[in-house]
Amino acid sequence: MPNGISVKMLEVGHCTHPGFMVNPKLGIKPRAFPASVAVIRHPEHGVLLFDTGYHHSFFDATAQFPQKCYAIATPCHLHHDEHIVGQLASLAIDKETVSHVVLSHFHADHIAAVREFTHAQLHCHPAGLAQLRRKPVFQAIRRGYLSELLPAEQQQQCVFHQDGFTQRLSEILALDIDIDLWAKDLFGDQLLYLVDLPGHAAGQLGLLIRLEQQWLFLLADACWLVDNLRDGVNQHWLANIICDDRKAYKATLNVLRQCYHAASNVLFVPAHCSETLAPLKQQDWLR
Ligand SMILES: [Zn+2]
Repeated sequence: MPNGISVKMLEVGHCTHPGFMVNPKLGIKPRAFPASVAVIRHPEHGVLLFDTGYHHSFFDATAQFPQKCYAIATPCHLHHDEHIVGQLASLAIDKETVSHVVLSHFHADHIAAVREFTHAQLHCHPAGLAQLRRKPVFQAIRRGYLSELLPAEQQQQCVFHQDGFTQRLSEILALDIDIDLWAKDLFGDQLLYLVDLPGHAAGQLGLLIRLEQQWLFLLADACWLVDNLRDGVNQHWLANIICDDRKAYKATLNVLRQCYHAASNVLFVPAHCSETLAPLKQQDWLR
């Protein structure tokens, strides 16, 4: 039965890193990591976004030192036809009509375009926003945060999700085994669940979406590639430098691996996995 939810996956710019950072077998050749955005149409709550991708505000914010160190460490590319507003317009969506933006966490590649959505409620974990505001500023930059990307007035529009993660993911998905991942029903209608995914960044949230025949599980940066789940590949220790809490990151990754192997009707979508994103981008609205 149709439930009124549909999802379109977009790529809004990408950055490059040596491949070995995410998979030791890949060598030093630079590899592209797309910044994905999910556009979600909800039958009652209108258009939601999960993250926003890159934006020209990233280049403005990193024009000077010390912020420039971020752009040097993470070279970013954004073609003009990838701009989020233009891509939404091609889907007949005016940016003013986006009513909710879920921010998985506050790394620049996830929030850079948030200033385009001044009418939207922003959903996030308060620990994530606290990291964006952390001082000294060099510490924040080293951890992947550029506070310039979230205007102060928009910080007032944040709806915080810290409590209420009381539903076990394995119960929602009707799995045979207990999975130690916890979710919160965003609108109380069993269609969209925020999922607590600690470790990579403070207060990181994923989003589990109920489609007609299957589930879509947006993982943010809980892992960078589907290989990390499917094949048990671990990212290079250098890639862990940015981690907020390495122990929590590994624990989250391990339960996601259990979930991946136990759940046959769930499509797992790491935010920067081109293998996963490439076919999804080509598809029309997922229902
Ligand atoms: Zn991140």
